Amino acid sequence: MPRRLKQLASLPVTELKGVGEAKAKGLAKLDIVSVLDLLTYYPRRYLDRTKEARIQDLHVGEEAMVLVRVRRIQIQPTRNRTKMVVAEVTDGSGSLKVTFFNQPFRVKQLPAGTEAVLFGKLDVFRGQRQMTNPVVDLIGDKTGMIVPVYPQSEKAGVMTWDIAKLMTEVLDRAGEFEEPVPEAVRAEHGLIDRTRAFHDIHLPETMGAAQQARRRLVFDELLRVQLKLVQQKRRLEVEAKGIRHDIDEGGRGGLVARFHEALPFPLTRAQQRAIGEIEADLAGPHPMHRLLQGDVGSGKTLVAVSALLVAVQGGHQGALMAPTEVLAEQHAAGVRALLDGFTVPGGDGDDLFSQAGMDRSLRIELLTNRTKAADKRRILDALESGAVDLAIGTHALIQDAIRFKSLGVVVIDEQHRFGVEQRAALRSKSANDLVPDVLVMTATPIPRTAAMTVYGDLDVSVLDELPPGRTPITTVWAEAPPLTGEGAEAEVWQTVRDEVASGRQAYVVCPLIDESEKLEVASAEETFAVLTMRDGELDGLRVGLLHGRVAPADKEATMAAFRAGDLDVLVATTVIEVGVDVPNATVMVILDADRFGIAQLHQLRGRVGRGAAASTCFLVGEATTPDGKARLEAMVRTTDGFDLAEVDLDLRGEGTIMGERQKGQNDLKLASLRRDREWVGKARDIAFTLVDANGSLAAHPILDEEVELLLSDETSTDFLLKS
Ligand code: ADP
Ligand code: MG
Repeated sequence: MPRRLKQLASLPVTELKGVGEAKAKGLAKLDIVSVLDLLTYYPRRYLDRTKEARIQDLHVGEEAMVLVRVRRIQIQPTRNRTKMVVAEVTDGSGSLKVTFFNQPFRVKQLPAGTEAVLFGKLDVFRGQRQMTNPVVDLIGDKTGMIVPVYPQSEKAGVMTWDIAKLMTEVLDRAGEFEEPVPEAVRAEHGLIDRTRAFHDIHLPETMGAAQQARRRLVFDELLRVQLKLVQQKRRLEVEAKGIRHDIDEGGRGGLVARFHEALPFPLTRAQQRAIGEIEADLAGPHPMHRLLQGDVGSGKTLVAVSALLVAVQGGHQGALMAPTEVLAEQHAAGVRALLDGFTVPGGDGDDLFSQAGMDRSLRIELLTNRTKAADKRRILDALESGAVDLAIGTHALIQDAIRFKSLGVVVIDEQHRFGVEQRAALRSKSANDLVPDVLVMTATPIPRTAAMTVYGDLDVSVLDELPPGRTPITTVWAEAPPLTGEGAEAEVWQTVRDEVASGRQAYVVCPLIDESEKLEVASAEETFAVLTMRDGELDGLRVGLLHGRVAPADKEATMAAFRAGDLDVLVATTVIEVGVDVPNATVMVILDADRFGIAQLHQLRGRVGRGAAASTCFLVGEATTPDGKARLEAMVRTTDGFDLAEVDLDLRGEGTIMGERQKGQNDLKLASLRRDREWVGKARDIAFTLVDANGSLAAHPILDEEVELLLSDETSTDFLLKS
């Protein structure tokens, strides 16, 4: 009988001949408990010994791999505190000196007589051939020409050759594996069978074989994730009872149409498309479950308001939730301005303010933790009676005490701060027991393949087009130490003064200090003082200061002054990252820019370029790391948020994107959302063909079993809104 993964999962490693109690303990430290854990403990890389050189044939300046025996090794004294280990090694054809800096453990690792593979560059120092800090692999008894190198733990006493040896035993004893993927799918995508894949990932005969094996196992991992997501998505569709919204002109006087007609500009094509997608969802019988992705300034608010108005137009209510009180307040002000003067039919006259048959004003209420108790009571009553059409607020909106008469559409801004519990809470908000439609908005673009994985249980709409009339932002990296007013920096401040002289405004963002708000505030205050002192770069301009410790009232006053044009320059910490919209601001100066992440820089830059005038973003400071340099170069090269998101993914790895949302999501051992981009989409397409309309995998019982086994519900059913 071919083996199934589930069988191996219930087999402890102690069943293997080579594993006693001590070894089992060591393996457990590497999270290897079952035979399946061991089988899916993959080599970090391979030594291709067909590429092995002889010491005698090495050329100076060339990287090479040599298999050597250690002759002598010792710690050598140095004048400074550097620890230097020097070894003499030989391979029969010649000998080499090997120097390790700050790796004192090498003395114990490589006692005389040890055989090891060194990978490094040959150089000549004082006439002697040597390698400095080569990569060292201890491979034990070398078998085969391709040697797998496993992540090992010297502390736990588990070395790469121990694992390789156990792997041979596992593969021998397991024999053949059950093949869960339909033959046709494998044939179409050129995937080798599973038995061979498990063998060749661990004991490949050629590097090509190892690659084919990886390809197949990566596919399996990605397929399982997509199967799980597609199952969830389909189940949600069949299970939940939603509202069939009225998206036609009928209902309450075509509120959405009136809203669009009243706008001073036409919708962008992207907005039209997104609104169309949303309306199709809303008209359908299942609750919408959609993510709206759009860069800063792409016009998400209008799309959100359109969705909310569909609910209102059908006699239901809408709710807009923001992650912070400030943002909720800004949304409330913005939405009130957009909907000023709109009316809805007065309904059946069962509340104090309405009379049957007469129109009344569309009613919007803001509810946050700052709302006074008396107001709050009044608002709660009005939500329950249906007198409020749109509620805007923070988490406060979905607290226990709040009941809606009929909550139709919920828009959640910046999904990442809302948790699973909040989502669950939404389901019991309405007196009528219907599940509201949910639209999640995010201004942080994430790459398509990452979105498919992280948000694979949502439908996605993308605003990939900015409204017309925006002038592109020029981004300049000014590589000078901040505030010195010299060189490149001088141009920065000159530009600020020039723009202010022609009636524009500027932001200066102070260095990010992660560890401490106190330090960050101090740094902002100091920056402000230096810039505004007599003969300082901004001396004579009207400059305001904003940071996390400014009292809310003062903060509001400063913002209002900046909005009104009574301040020329706003010196601030990242508190201005979101939500500030001042079209007259045309310069953004970011100090010590290399300390910020790409997403943050992109958000900050999005504060300018909001009006018709050309804008500039200065990234000030040197890059202190290669990644910092890559970030700043990418910022200069493009203003496209999705493009930047790809760069970010390349630089930081998927851990950061997956991490937050998929804690414990441990089935992606080989697959990388970067390296294996193309397979994410393929796996998703295939998943859609394998899962049936009810969200079941009944036709593919082994895949079903594996999804169940490797992706626990806790990790993935709660995908949406997990923080
Ligand atoms: P986002 O929330 O996606 O960052 P907003 O919804 O705040 O973007 O829109 C940014 C700005 O663009 C607002 O000032 C808004 O009035 C304007 N805007 C939105 N849609 C359009 C459009 N179709 N044409 C012109 N301007 C638009
Ligand atoms: Mg619906």
